[in-house]
Amino acid sequence: MKRKQVNSSRVPIYRDAGFELFDADTTDAAFTNEPNNERVPDHYIYSRYRNPTVVAAEEEIMKLEGTSWALLTQSGMSAVDIALSIFQRGKQTQPWLFFSEIYGGTISFGEAVLKRRRGLDIRSFSPENEIYNPDQFELAMKNIKPEVVYMEAISNPMLIVPDAEKIIKIAKHYNSKVIVDNTFATPSLWKPLKSGADIVIHSATKYFSGHGNLTAGVLCGDDPEIMKNAIEYRKFVGHMLSADDAYRLHTQIQSFALRFSQQCHNAEEVAAYLQKSEKVCKVWYPGLATHPTHKEAVKLFGKKGFGGMVTFDMAGKDGAEKKRSRDGFIKAVSEKIKLIPSLGDPGTILMPVEAVWGAKYPEPGMIRLSAGFEETGDLLSTIEKGLRLSK
Ligand code: PLP
Repeated sequence: MKRKQVNSSRVPIYRDAGFELFDADTTDAAFTNEPNNERVPDHYIYSRYRNPTVVAAEEEIMKLEGTSWALLTQSGMSAVDIALSIFQRGKQTQPWLFFSEIYGGTISFGEAVLKRRRGLDIRSFSPENEIYNPDQFELAMKNIKPEVVYMEAISNPMLIVPDAEKIIKIAKHYNSKVIVDNTFATPSLWKPLKSGADIVIHSATKYFSGHGNLTAGVLCGDDPEIMKNAIEYRKFVGHMLSADDAYRLHTQIQSFALRFSQQCHNAEEVAAYLQKSEKVCKVWYPGLATHPTHKEAVKLFGKKGFGGMVTFDMAGKDGAEKKRSRDGFIKAVSEKIKLIPSLGDPGTILMPVEAVWGAKYPEPGMIRLSAGFEETGDLLSTIEKGLRLSK
């Protein structure tokens, strides 16, 4: 059958596992070129290597992060794996330094895969009183001399913002590669590559796709050598995103900036509302002057916003009363605010902190909330109802 060019304005879903290479000469050219690991190959070979629908979605993310390449993966964790593993050099690998307040799955990956299975020397840098001290960081760099520094722009669930520009400068002085997980801040608030980071990663499951209907990850950068290594690792390990998910991500990311702006606005309103309530004893939101890293957040994000996440602690005279109050709140809002272990969804969702983080944050009254992009007044009346009926 003769194929016709179709006048579609979108890149379609190319579901080919292997692409047609027509003859031996084209096959030879494609396979001879493949070890160059180009971002957009002259000939697509196999969808685990590269796929045109995936490339199209990657180009949207390049525009958002302002980077010269982006590589999509089938989950945020596979982006984490690639970003780190490409710096592993067998027995010559030197220590790597991870900030302690990072996504729990990344900490588990560090423990179960990097340390226990691969035998790597993974060190941890902790905040003091919920603030990362750049002087202490410099001391750690001097002592450990890590090859890789791994951090997040906004931590989870305490929403700690590091003095990232200062920290990246110090890390670069010691020739470390810097990887930033920018899932919570997104490029709307900060572009880590512009501050000197080497790789920025995202769980695209969250704000980029924004509808809680797919899992995806992405790593972005400017260095062509890092890109080639990352393409090679993604290909050999098989961390590629499917064309179907890339298509949906490509569509949904068109509304990212609008959605995230409303999520930041809603989070700011909810944080201010919660802070005024006597039913709540503490609120963590980087936009509040009371947050331990408000100063750092203002320095890094300027007036662009402070993210869509809010954490708060229900009041109570003891643990049992706080727990009752937390459970009462969750029940009272449950029709509108679902308990879903994710973030960046269209509607506001929440998680009880102790039930997820256990011993790390054994706070029976604490709730982490991911603001959605629903109408602000509706959201605030649901929160008001939750607080009113919480006990
Ligand atoms: N990074 C952050 C900050 C996350 O919150 C998550 C997941 O919640 C991940 C990475 C992992 O992403 P995924 O669940 O898409 O693998």
